[in-house]
Amino acid sequence: MIIRLNNEKRRARMLSVDDGLTPTQWIAICNAFGCCCAYCGNAVTDQDTEMDHVVPIVRGGRHGPCNIAPACERCNAKKKDKPVNVFLKVHGLNPTAVAERFALALQRLGEAA
Ligand SMILES: [Zn+2]
Repeated sequence: MIIRLNNEKRRARMLSVDDGLTPTQWIAICNAFGCCCAYCGNAVTDQDTEMDHVVPIVRGGRHGPCNIAPACERCNAKKKDKPVNVFLKVHGLNPTAVAERFALALQRLGEAA
């Protein structure tokens, strides 16, 4: 019983690990996406850019630079905790265009590093 409790505590602790995202990393990610929503591709401003967890936290995603993308309020509100592929399909967004935006952003982030 004690071992089981310890395992559950350990699991809870691991799940709550915050990979961390610095303000500098967030700005670099937004710039890498060309100050556009990662999903619809519309231009976003500092005021209306929201931080989207690509893999939602409730689905095991982390709060770290590898799992964060800029999203407009509209897309973020629609995506909520849906997996990306489901969100794109339900809302008629082009998965190829989204994949290209992510690939370009990753390339830009790689060049900046
Ligand atoms: Zn959008």
